[in-house]
Amino acid sequence: APRKLAAGNWKMNGTLASLAEIDRLLADHPAPGCDVLICPPATLVHAMAARAQGRIATGGQDCHARTSGAHTGDIAAAQLKDAGASHVILGHSERRTDHAETDAQVAAKAVAAHQAGLVAVICVGETEAQRDAGQTLDVISAQLAGSVPDGATAANTVIAYEPVWAIGTGRTPTNDQIAEVHALMRDRLAARFADGADFALLYGGSVKPGNAAEIFAIPHVNGALVGGASLKAEDFGPIIAAL
Ligand code: 13P
Repeated sequence: APRKLAAGNWKMNGTLASLAEIDRLLADHPAPGCDVLICPPATLVHAMAARAQGRIATGGQDCHARTSGAHTGDIAAAQLKDAGASHVILGHSERRTDHAETDAQVAAKAVAAHQAGLVAVICVGETEAQRDAGQTLDVISAQLAGSVPDGATAANTVIAYEPVWAIGTGRTPTNDQIAEVHALMRDRLAARFADGADFALLYGGSVKPGNAAEIFAIPHVNGALVGGASLKAEDFGPIIAAL
């Protein structure tokens, strides 16, 4: 069965002072019933990993597809690993939009992450226009096919369904809409990978303490990728507890 994962994506938020939230999470949730991951900005990966004492996993928010070289401003997967990360988010919609990342590039980054020993948290999601046009399932299928490399396994890859229109908006799909996409993702992964039934499938997009339990009850939802509500222990803690 998939492992349950509560993952936080701090995006471009936080400084060293923000690591006090890690102390609060560890104090308030000494024995969570799921894996917990926080992906801070790259500047905080090393300090967070040290602070989390192995009880909360640390992840990057992106990595380069190559192992080293002349790529100013980029970070290699092995460098994240060296800094204490165990995971890396790849293909987040903000990367796809702000940096024009394609499915093929995301897949190449995932290969690099796997080679470095990182778990790739690969994000997919439709825009509002695509949903309105009835294209959601086709879009998700194509993103999965193109962004998840052949070497993916349930041990090295997590998939996050993040509808673009639900990110940071306070809007979420209906339970039936989430269920439909997660069932599709499970089917696609099971058809392609021997252990496709065991990949953890996260929902992301305006997950809050108030809606987490309801979302976690949806079939094939094995956790969440949380943005805004992962920044404070008082918000992320109850989400962890709901899983
Ligand atoms: P919000 O939880 O702020 O909507 O962000 C979701 C997200 O993009 C996580 O990666």
